[in-house]
Amino acid sequence: MSSFGVGDFIRILGRKAFNAIPDNRDLYCLTCKKHIFHYGLSYGEAINASPPKSETAQAILSILGRVNDYNPGFSLLLGNTYYCSGCRRVKAEGGILSDINNKEDVKYNP
Ligand SMILES: [Zn+2]
Repeated sequence: MSSFGVGDFIRILGRKAFNAIPDNRDLYCLTCKKHIFHYGLSYGEAINASPPKSETAQAILSILGRVNDYNPGFSLLLGNTYYCSGCRRVKAEGGILSDINNKEDVKYNP
């Protein structure tokens, strides 16, 4: 018998269905202006890696990020989140609003 248990199944289902932690991959970076290696992030981690806000806002947003890790609608809209291995900018990829989100982010956080 394999040691593959219910816990493993739920963990894999959670990752694949809700994209809690996307796999690392090469993506185009708007700041570096080239294809470069990106690390996968959960939404909670992506919010923590974004430019600093007030401590209270940061705490609330990171909790919302954690909740959104288990909300499939959110990943459909925003896609998965990654950060660039060159400039460490966080970007979204693969969602309906990903391109808009990335352009707005570069505009307001150059
Ligand atoms: Zn970059």
